[in-house]
Amino acid sequence: MRLLPSANEEHALREKVLKFCRDNIPETVVGLERQGTMSDGDSRAFYRRLGEAGWIGRHWPKQYGGQGGTHLDTAIVDEALGYARAPLSGYLLSVKVFGNSLLLFGTEAQKNFYLKEITAGRAIFCQGFSEPTAGSDFGALRTSARRDGDSFVVNGHKIWTSSAEVADYMYLAARTDPDAPKHRGISLFVLDMKSPGVTVNSFGTVGGGVLNEVFLDNVRVPAESLIGELNRGFHQSMRSLDLERSCMDRVGAAAFALDSLNSYVHETRPTNGDRLADVVAVQEKIAELYARLHLARCFGFQIARRLDAGSGASSEFSFGKLYVGLLTQAIADAATDIIGPRAQYEFGAELAVQEGRQAALYRASAALTLAGGSSEIQRTVIAVRGMGLPR
Ligand SMILES: Cc1cc2nc3c(=O)[nH]c(=O)nc-3n(C[C@H](O)[C@H](O)[C@H](O)COP(=O)(O)OP(=O)(O)OC[C@H]3O[C@@H](n4cnc5c(N)ncnc54)[C@H](O)[C@@H]3O)c2cc1C
Repeated sequence: MRLLPSANEEHALREKVLKFCRDNIPETVVGLERQGTMSDGDSRAFYRRLGEAGWIGRHWPKQYGGQGGTHLDTAIVDEALGYARAPLSGYLLSVKVFGNSLLLFGTEAQKNFYLKEITAGRAIFCQGFSEPTAGSDFGALRTSARRDGDSFVVNGHKIWTSSAEVADYMYLAARTDPDAPKHRGISLFVLDMKSPGVTVNSFGTVGGGVLNEVFLDNVRVPAESLIGELNRGFHQSMRSLDLERSCMDRVGAAAFALDSLNSYVHETRPTNGDRLADVVAVQEKIAELYARLHLARCFGFQIARRLDAGSGASSEFSFGKLYVGLLTQAIADAATDIIGPRAQYEFGAELAVQEGRQAALYRASAALTLAGGSSEIQRTVIAVRGMGLPR
């Protein structure tokens, strides 16, 4: 079995996606770290065109609007989208978190409707799992969903909800049995964000763009919006979180950052006249990061192969997530060291280097060892699932 796709097919697919991004990301945001900087309208229009071009959910069956491709195809597309710094928040949550999980646990009617909406670029999902007192400890969540006739009545408070400000639906985790032990009694739902009782408050983040808190006040969710089995949501969501950790978009973004740094050292001559590229210490740092980037790609393709082979949960999903987050932070640190104080100037500042890209990367990379499950939690998964160490 191949570890990597053939160079030709990878190159052709990657070039198509990069061209698509060049043609469809508005000029107004070129030069900025695009993720989090496109307006809601631009971001939605991009997502729609992504769907129309057939780039969303390529590995899903054709009957649900996919291309009947493989996870390896999707990995290549995701890497190219990440490299192009496409606005991916809605895409990733809709495809990787909700859609992949719906394929495993949804009814035929749910798959027929939601997966087609997603692949067409019409439906954006956010993920309502985390709460003020339930992040790493997902089982501690308090949002309740009480059965009332043919619907559930939901009350609670979600936080760190990416894309809630633009989402059409939330993939919601709520407690349906208050008397069950904490890891049982949780269920998953699709919640229409336009339902009465949903309030979204956005706030800025150090990484750029916004995150949200979402208040749910007596929100009615039809019973047929339950995803999978009642009270089995903890088990199901562990599988969704695994799927969220396939990380080729982040590998692509890291590759772009390293290429940018490489260009900078080729173009820049400090006062002594040598190019930075001629300095051995700089060469060694870039070589080390390049080797680490290659390893991150191998992890990403390995995860895709496992998914194509139908493998279940594995600590390898956590390798990828852990590794690429730390790698991106290492690239941001190296850029700060090599460029020096000017690396801190933001887009628009007179002294900004590469349109403030490295400053934006430095700020954005802080979240990568937290979002989607912290590095500490990934290490625990690897220790327990991968190495058989006691929990
Ligand atoms: C940019 C960003 C986007 C996000 N988007 C979403 C989203 O769309 N939807 C959503 O539901 N959530 C989202 N989150 C939330 C994210 O999943 C949580 O931040 C994460 O799971 C950690 O939870 P917490 O913030 O409550 O921190 P805590 O769980 O309180 O953890 C705080 C610190 O303690 C450590 N820690 C906690 N428990 C353990 C343990 N058992 N062993 C060792 N160390 C431990 C953690 O590693 C972390 O360093 C997002 C977060 C960020 C930063």
